[in-house]
Amino acid sequence: MKIYVASTNRHKIAEFEAMLKARKLDCRLIGADEVPGFEAPDENGKSFEENAFIKARALAGAVPGQYVMADDSGIEVDALGGAPGIYSARYAGGHGDGADLRNNEKLLKELAGVPDDKRGAQFVCCIALILPDGGEKSFTGIIRGRINHGAVGSGGFGYDPLFFVPELGKTTAELSPGEKNAVSHRGQAFAKLATFLTNQK
Ligand code: IMP
Repeated sequence: MKIYVASTNRHKIAEFEAMLKARKLDCRLIGADEVPGFEAPDENGKSFEENAFIKARALAGAVPGQYVMADDSGIEVDALGGAPGIYSARYAGGHGDGADLRNNEKLLKELAGVPDDKRGAQFVCCIALILPDGGEKSFTGIIRGRINHGAVGSGGFGYDPLFFVPELGKTTAELSPGEKNAVSHRGQAFAKLATFLTNQK
């Protein structure tokens, strides 16, 4: 099975491929950068699902009749009314070098003085899938945790050093990639996608 992925991040695509393989699905994933002339659309949706579909539909327009997927993810903090949510990547303003660090510093500042029992948060991942017949499906994964008072762990990326999972007694930055995929929002959304694709064959 061949699936086009609305991402140009080779690392992300390789991770997706590994997650599908781990579930015995032999999928070849093709990045958007391999589709000549394709330009990524503006992600101006109001939810993870809307943004995932904006990306997936744009790519599906360029490769009609194929499986196309896109994902969108972020962190929602209870005490901040769900912020930064879809703005997670640019919470402290701007992308690029040092953005993760600045985002984490801003989050810690916003939560200064907030006690543990009010520091609940969740990572959310939504995967949008466009089917060859134009049908659409989405798969959402959520992992609950709480925002630590400081960074712990050196694995993962983004908000991982701040995201403490009480059941594991660790932040997601202290998990190996395999351990994280087994419990994470992205891993859970992928498990649902893999189940759906298995039943498609
Ligand atoms: P995107 O879905 O790749 O656009 O990711 C959005 C942003 O959400 C990332 O830049 C991170 O800041 C945050 N994020 C999403 N998933 C994770 C995760 O697994 N760990 C830490 N941060 C994450």
